[in-house]
Amino acid sequence: MNDFAFPPAPPASVAVAGSKLRFPVHRIYCVGRNYAEHVREMGAEPERAPPVFFMKPADAVVANGTPVPYPPATANLHHEVELVVALRSGARHIAAGAALGHVFGYAVGNDLTRRDLQAAARAKGQPWDTAKGFDHSAPVAAIRPAAEGHLNRGRIWLKVNDSLRQESDIDQMLLDVPGIIAALSGFYELRGGDLIFTGTPAGVGALKPGDRVEGGIDGLETLRHTISAPPVA
Ligand code: MN
Repeated sequence: MNDFAFPPAPPASVAVAGSKLRFPVHRIYCVGRNYAEHVREMGAEPERAPPVFFMKPADAVVANGTPVPYPPATANLHHEVELVVALRSGARHIAAGAALGHVFGYAVGNDLTRRDLQAAARAKGQPWDTAKGFDHSAPVAAIRPAAEGHLNRGRIWLKVNDSLRQESDIDQMLLDVPGIIAALSGFYELRGGDLIFTGTPAGVGALKPGDRVEGGIDGLETLRHTISAPPVA
């Protein structure tokens, strides 16, 4: 075996509820435009703007309770509370009927977004990478194993400084979890270690340094983090 030219970055991982074992993150896929009310608040019609897929780097994950530094190059950082699906295995071209067999568990995540950069990218037809895939952009709470049950309904909510900003039910997703896995596996070979952020309900809004963010889904560990001041250059 060849040695590396220098030490590789440590693998990204997420806590597993009730276990000392950690979930090793392979990739982070995300679904955009997956709740009709959120599509409308973004100025589009759900019928004309179907769900889209994008990615974040694996090491964008932030452990529950860890402060998130306000990112550079934005003046409009937004929260997006989401159900996160964690895969134990994968394949290409997974049928919706077989999709849940690949699920390791479920967690609450926050798809942090530089909304100003996203709006500029959309206007110019450019990619969303700098708007979505930045450092520390994927806080995730502990994963609840699917052995405790799959999730297809339940209240999803987010509070900033104890004020309710987002509230819906995950049964309002336009593409449900099996549908998302089936669709994504038509573009990519999915595998164990993949996380899928499944889209956010209406009520997205701005965060600023000092804010306290809490997000929840019935039956899952509550996600909590603050927004800290940007690091000094
Ligand atoms: Mn999102």
